[in-house]
Amino acid sequence: MSVAFSLPLSIRLPSFLQIFACLPDAQEPRSNSDNIRESPTESASSQETWPTAAAMMAKKMENDKADNDCPEQFIIRRVSGVDKISLRDIAGEQVDIISEKMLCLPDDFLDELKNGLRVMLEGSGGSQHREEFLILQKLVNTRPDLTEKTLIRAHRVQLEILVAINTGIQAFLHPSISLSQTSLIEVFVFKRCRNIACQNQLPADDCTCEICASKSGFCNLCMCVICNKFDFEVNTCRWVGCDLCSHWTHTDCAIRDGQICMGPSAKSGAGPTEMLFRCRACNRTSELLGWVKDVFQHCAPAWEREALMRELDFVSRIFRGSEDPRGRKLFWKCEELIEKMKGGLEESTACRVILMFFQGMY
Ligand SMILES: [Zn+2]
Ligand SMILES: [Zn+2]
Ligand SMILES: [Zn+2]
Ligand SMILES: [Zn+2]
Repeated sequence: MSVAFSLPLSIRLPSFLQIFACLPDAQEPRSNSDNIRESPTESASSQETWPTAAAMMAKKMENDKADNDCPEQFIIRRVSGVDKISLRDIAGEQVDIISEKMLCLPDDFLDELKNGLRVMLEGSGGSQHREEFLILQKLVNTRPDLTEKTLIRAHRVQLEILVAINTGIQAFLHPSISLSQTSLIEVFVFKRCRNIACQNQLPADDCTCEICASKSGFCNLCMCVICNKFDFEVNTCRWVGCDLCSHWTHTDCAIRDGQICMGPSAKSGAGPTEMLFRCRACNRTSELLGWVKDVFQHCAPAWEREALMRELDFVSRIFRGSEDPRGRKLFWKCEELIEKMKGGLEESTACRVILMFFQGMY
């Protein structure tokens, strides 16, 4: 007998990811093999907050003051070709050789290296940048020598670059993000969550499920069990949280993967069918109607126009394949409201209508 009904799905609430919003972009690697953009909001969390020129200067002056093993760097600003290193060198060459070279390179050269990678990761440079990044990532991924032991000897900047290449996350290059050397190494070897705002030890909560055990770097506290990505969206139908195992799934990923489909109502077992969510991590099902209702009742009054339309679209897509009368009605209601809003219907009215609709369903 399933107990799914008594354990409704979780809503991704702000308390869960409170600090996420104030951090710079920690988006996922663009090198992931699946390029499917689930929805236009996918890029919404890309809020890069790179420092202003003034902050950069301040940092540089600070660095310039710092003591260094190679005092001549203050005189020789131009790095000779012999000592120069490239991102490819860092990605491909032995840790201590690069580390030693880096000690003798001026800070602005190292900053430029980081900046080069950052630009590459931003993806604005077109396919050439993308290809170069994939080459770097391949170099890093195929090296057996990058271990906890060897990385201890890495130069700080070298480590930041290696982690950024490995994870595809440019936040590791950000001047204001200062993870300890140990934390960076742990992120590199997948012992710590690569989401800078999460940083939990992996496997999170010592979970022994197949997904946590088999997916390198997967964190069940912040990532989607299907696409392994994370973002900072809360108060939304975009994320479905399984209350049985508390792992998270993007609604879009679940729809695309057929994890949202008709099934026997958990309430009555073999009775009528309804739209269910099947969690990939624990393989249990939960009903969706009550969850969607919960999300709307908790969050809808605070949504702005665009958010409301987006959420109605989520619900519409969740229940599109619904075959039971309640699910069908909800689908049509959402479609109707989206159309009306496009025609100018006030969001406050639309919000009231959908909340009344949910109330009438139970
Ligand atoms: Zn797990
Ligand atoms: Zn995490
Ligand atoms: Zn996903
Ligand atoms: Zn689950």
